Amino acid sequence: MKALSALAALALSAPAAAAVQSPKLIVAVAVDQFSTDLFNEYRAHFTGGLKRLQQGVVFANGYQSHAATETCPGHATILTGGRPARTGIIANNWIDYSAPREDKVVYCAEDESVRGSTHDKYTQSVVHLKIPTLGDRMKAANKASRVVAVAGKDRAAIMMGGKSTDQLWFWNAGKFDTLTGRPKNASADRINNAIAATLATGLPAPALPDLCRGRVAPVPVSTAKSIGNPLSTLAPNTPKDMRIRPELDRATADLAIALTDELKLGRGKAADLLAVSFSVTDYVGHAFGTEGPEMCTQLVALDETLDVFLTHLDGIGVPYAVVLTADHGGHDAAERNQMRGIPDDQRFAEDSGLKALNAAIGHADKPVFRTDGDFSGPVTGDLYLDPTITGEARTTLLAQARAWLTRRPSFAAVFTRDELLATPPSKLPPDAWTLAERAAASVDRQRSGDLIVLLRPRLSPIMNPGGGSVATHGSPWDYDRRVPILFWSQGMTGFEQPNSIETIDIMPTLAALIGLPVPAGEIDGQCRDLDAGQASTCPTQ
Ligand code: ZN
Repeated sequence: MKALSALAALALSAPAAAAVQSPKLIVAVAVDQFSTDLFNEYRAHFTGGLKRLQQGVVFANGYQSHAATETCPGHATILTGGRPARTGIIANNWIDYSAPREDKVVYCAEDESVRGSTHDKYTQSVVHLKIPTLGDRMKAANKASRVVAVAGKDRAAIMMGGKSTDQLWFWNAGKFDTLTGRPKNASADRINNAIAATLATGLPAPALPDLCRGRVAPVPVSTAKSIGNPLSTLAPNTPKDMRIRPELDRATADLAIALTDELKLGRGKAADLLAVSFSVTDYVGHAFGTEGPEMCTQLVALDETLDVFLTHLDGIGVPYAVVLTADHGGHDAAERNQMRGIPDDQRFAEDSGLKALNAAIGHADKPVFRTDGDFSGPVTGDLYLDPTITGEARTTLLAQARAWLTRRPSFAAVFTRDELLATPPSKLPPDAWTLAERAAASVDRQRSGDLIVLLRPRLSPIMNPGGGSVATHGSPWDYDRRVPILFWSQGMTGFEQPNSIETIDIMPTLAALIGLPVPAGEIDGQCRDLDAGQASTCPTQ
């Protein structure tokens, strides 16, 4: 009896789990293509930044819940709280037949009204993002807040930063660049000069970490190319190669650190935001797949880079909160999966491609259906019918195309845009959504295709792996949707939450930490409680 009451008294007097401090600096990190599968495979082996972040609140089953699991839509969910259907960022590229130029393919992070531009020779812009980011909201609430975005890709920096960034930098063909018309910056100049000097002398070959030695096992993917080799076999160190070298992530961190110091982030009158997206994991995944020594080498380096980054932030001496997630997951190359027990992991076959589709409906000579790619490519994602075809002819062609696609085993589902626009959001967690619900989360009345085509699981839309990419993402399947969501701040009591949440929950969760109200109805996400005890970090409903 006495023991019991002593225990009860202890329970009452024991300090509650350490309350989460209100941060002066919010640090939002995206690791491009860092799937939950990769996180789980490596999480016990991390010793640096990715070890530290696991001591906070770990949602291993975060979801980029939508079907169009690409970089631009994914980055846009993270700090807006909106799914692609709300942000308008439904893909990396879409077709806009009303675009004021000959090229009707529109890149998500460009301004197509710029004269002389094309979707791959463009002027970077945030004009397509329909809703505010966390940074936009912080600055609207208090002008003293500063917002900085740095990334290895322009679309990553732009979609995380939003419309009112103080500094926005992205890797662009050999150096970090900013939006047209923005002034030069001393920190960016310094980092760019250092990169130029490094490239001039040549980068050392990346060492093969001990952890990765057992993964060396060459897998031929074409007559000329194999994957599964040490990264040290890389070709000469051109700026383009930087994208598949850990040094680019390190340079991204160095620039984020330099801007943090230059602007004295975290030491102003209001909370500041630093958004950083590390791109090399994605480029390595595309170039070499996810399960070889190349990706292993990259993740070991990323873990170290994050350690350097976080250690620097410790030194600022202000409370800061970190979230780390990804824009989408990823999947290994078909050839290696076939060798490792998954024979139905395959590449898209030409007889289900765009050319075959147009031929099957009687338009072999003058194709009427297109995607954002070329006419010899696969059919996947948004499929657009020539807008000059109207009335009954249009209805007939759409029905014929749908019937043809539905018969072929390459495709899991085909929806019309109108069907998806009429599909209500699921009330269930994202791991329980139907394919229609996943596709509806990334549909837009103006930007989406007439048909939205979902491939069967484990079918790679890369038909020829000899050209460059051997593996990719973009499917509605969980290997592409599941991403880790890790929250960490100093003194926080961590916990693991295996239930699924969405990346759209990140923005309201961070907003709550700094007491920033987000009006209900403006976003799709919800605040997630980061306090392990009785208190809550979310506003009371
Ligand atoms: Zn990406």
